[in-house]
Amino acid sequence: MGERRTIVIAGAGIGGLAAALALADAGFRVVIAERNGELSEVGAGIQLSPNAGRVLSALGLDAAIAAVAVEPAAIDVRSADGRLITSVPTASFRQRYGYPYRSIHRGDLQHLLAEAVRANPAITLRLGATVGEFAPHAGSWLVRVEHDGTRDVINAIAVIGADGIWSEMRSRIPDHATPRASGRVAWRGMVPVDNAPRHLPRDRVGLWLGRDAHLVHYPVSAGAAINIVAIVEEPWDRQGWSAPGDRRVLLSRFARWSEEAQAIIRAPLAWQKWTLASLFPTGPWTHGPIALLGDAAHGMVPFVAQGAAMAIEDAAVLAKCLAAAKSPEAGLAAYEAARKPRVSEVAEAARATGETYHWTPPLSTARDAALRLLGPRLILGKNDWIYRWRA
Ligand SMILES: Cc1cc2nc3c(=O)[nH]c(=O)nc-3n(C[C@H](O)[C@H](O)[C@H](O)COP(=O)(O)OP(=O)(O)OC[C@H]3O[C@@H](n4cnc5c(N)ncnc54)[C@H](O)[C@@H]3O)c2cc1C
Repeated sequence: MGERRTIVIAGAGIGGLAAALALADAGFRVVIAERNGELSEVGAGIQLSPNAGRVLSALGLDAAIAAVAVEPAAIDVRSADGRLITSVPTASFRQRYGYPYRSIHRGDLQHLLAEAVRANPAITLRLGATVGEFAPHAGSWLVRVEHDGTRDVINAIAVIGADGIWSEMRSRIPDHATPRASGRVAWRGMVPVDNAPRHLPRDRVGLWLGRDAHLVHYPVSAGAAINIVAIVEEPWDRQGWSAPGDRRVLLSRFARWSEEAQAIIRAPLAWQKWTLASLFPTGPWTHGPIALLGDAAHGMVPFVAQGAAMAIEDAAVLAKCLAAAKSPEAGLAAYEAARKPRVSEVAEAARATGETYHWTPPLSTARDAALRLLGPRLILGKNDWIYRWRA
């Protein structure tokens, strides 16, 4: 679409920052308005699969990611009594997909994306800022960005709502979808490796499956800490990133699990609770100059570890569609059309996988037998379509 034109992004989460970098690479100027006065260093981990790694690598971020991430050797799947059900080697991912399977601290990922954004002269990051009203003007839009009691008026061709699952930008789209609580809450904790129980592996992902709950742990921060996530069924509907959780309450939910599992839950000093909500990706994502991206468009339950990966994929596709289109409207429409089938399938895979994780006997017995029988190769094959994706 010719000369450098400006795109405003609401939200500097992983999706908004990745979109800014991809759009700048595609020749646009970008202004990011982030509501928070500083980028939050949420104490949580993220598993970065090859489909996300491929996009981030194309943005020149591979070395920065490798410096702070871990490449776990395997995913060990266990039952609540501690028995190993199967082990899926992840070290083979480089060979299989061209990119590794990595685990990373969310704060580290956001920080390195923000560093790249700050170093890019085509991108302006405004903290403590929100997107106000906008109006059409001579073939583009005048968009108000409000910060510190002042207002900038930006001449932009599009406004990207990357403001998370409780998106304000989404409320400006008629007939938009609304998030629904999943009935599950994620408890997230972090433990420095020096304080971690000996049996907690430093180089592997652990997935424990039990009645109405499951437990996940993996190394982050270049191996200096271990991220622990316990998912329980709990009617909790508080919006927003997180709220403090009481470890004693969590322990009571795992009272019938093995001593090893309970020791893992006792390890972190603090726990934060997240309501797991999801948003049907089928609602409209675009309206006038607005397009939604990441959780704002398709927040999903984290049971195939793909929420941030989908936001990163969105970023690459949005930039491609806008760069190739004859008009911004056509670009946004092409982006929505390209992404919806993919994220719908991934969201459904996440929902279905989450169901199987909390099964009780006899279903759980059949599930574990199938996991043993299928072996890692077939389990990996099941997720091939997710990991092989290219923009
Ligand atoms: C327990 C759990 C485990 C997970 N594990 C994984 C995993 O292993 N792998 C994976 O890929 N994904 C995972 N996810 C999902 C992943 O964390 C999210 O999908 C991802 O962070 C979404 O990024 P986002 O940029 O779309 O939204 P967010 O991270 O929510 O960012 C939105 C940003 O917008 C800002 N904002 C909000 N409102 C406004 C406004 N009005 N104006 C301006 N700014 C605003 C916010 O402050 C924030 O900075 C997990 C999620 C959970 C809950």
